[in-house]
Amino acid sequence: MRKVYFDHNASTPVHPEVAAAVQPFLGDLFGNPSSIHWAGRDVRKAVEDARAEIASFYGCRPLEVVFTSSGTEADNLAVKGVAYRPGNAGKHIVTSRVEHPAIMNTCLFLESQGFRVTYVPVNRQGIVEPEAVRSALENDTILVSVMAANNETGCLMPIAEIGAIAREAGVLMHTDAVQATGKVPLPWESLPVDLLTFSGHKVNGIKGAGGLVVRKGIEIEAVLHGGHQERGRRGGTENLPGIVGFGVAAECAARELKAEAPRLLALRGRLEAGLRAALPDTVIHGERAPRLPNTVNASFPGARSDHLLMALDARGVCVSAGAACASGAVEPSPVLQAMGVPRDLAVCALRLSMGRDTRADDVDRVIAALGESVRAVRGAAATAGAKGA
Ligand code: PLP
Repeated sequence: MRKVYFDHNASTPVHPEVAAAVQPFLGDLFGNPSSIHWAGRDVRKAVEDARAEIASFYGCRPLEVVFTSSGTEADNLAVKGVAYRPGNAGKHIVTSRVEHPAIMNTCLFLESQGFRVTYVPVNRQGIVEPEAVRSALENDTILVSVMAANNETGCLMPIAEIGAIAREAGVLMHTDAVQATGKVPLPWESLPVDLLTFSGHKVNGIKGAGGLVVRKGIEIEAVLHGGHQERGRRGGTENLPGIVGFGVAAECAARELKAEAPRLLALRGRLEAGLRAALPDTVIHGERAPRLPNTVNASFPGARSDHLLMALDARGVCVSAGAACASGAVEPSPVLQAMGVPRDLAVCALRLSMGRDTRADDVDRVIAALGESVRAVRGAAATAGAKGA
């Protein structure tokens, strides 16, 4: 059975150039980048080269790049780092109802510490409207955090407009660009954004390396206190292979983005058209919104997503369920709920996400496997319903 991986928004295969580049750092190049002897100097250069590569990818300055262990840590650093920064008196944060748990749960934590958070809604297409952000601002708002692209639907948020509103109000703007990185341009110099999160393993790097771009002149409090690494903004010995790998991944993404974006968009069109032909009642979420070229989030009415996931897995196809299963009961995704998707449709949603290794025949395999799986799951549900009646 040929396996097909359609879950690139969860993680991506390591780029062969990344795998080759990190090898020496699992062998002779093992020093601590903070050591001043030869073993440290060799690897310090590698960390700084990777920083320069990532800076060139975003168009920011190398000193604006702070390495962390993950996108999750970078999101924590952005939000808590602003909340606890020296001299901050404000207690209010604006974010959206469709953020990743790395932002959502950080905001919930800060609420427990006396901060106030406004969770701005999205429209039916899954987009945060800039005017809704403007209305949410209060006198003591310190941060607006709105993601660049949603991980479940791929919806692209108008972060330039939202950032302009934040800037006009004198409020810092953070964007979680974990999913947008490498898929759409993120021109740091012209974006009115002060803090930007990225994660290596979403762009064919290796796991355990992410980071935050912090605009020059902006001071944030560290979340991990320790040594003076990352200019005191993140204590802890750097993940050398992860950082080197991300530097190479960024270089590859910069080189490949121009060709990859239209290629993936064509594959997305093929996938959506194929699903519609095979299963005419398919509902594509955020269909009319600007979306990442690699992501389709769709519901297959009458076929629960956890059952579909297993049926597809049995056919060698990896996708992600848009609903979480807790002790047998399915909970619809908060993102789809925020978009106003009815519960019975939301529990039948799948996320299909493609990447640089996806080919047209993979798309055709997924369409065929989904057709079979939906029919099988619907058939089983009908039989169970008849037995129960
Ligand atoms: N933010 C978004 C939008 C994501 O999709 C993810 C991961 O899925 C994260 C943050 C967390 O990144 P990491 O897996 O590097 O912790």
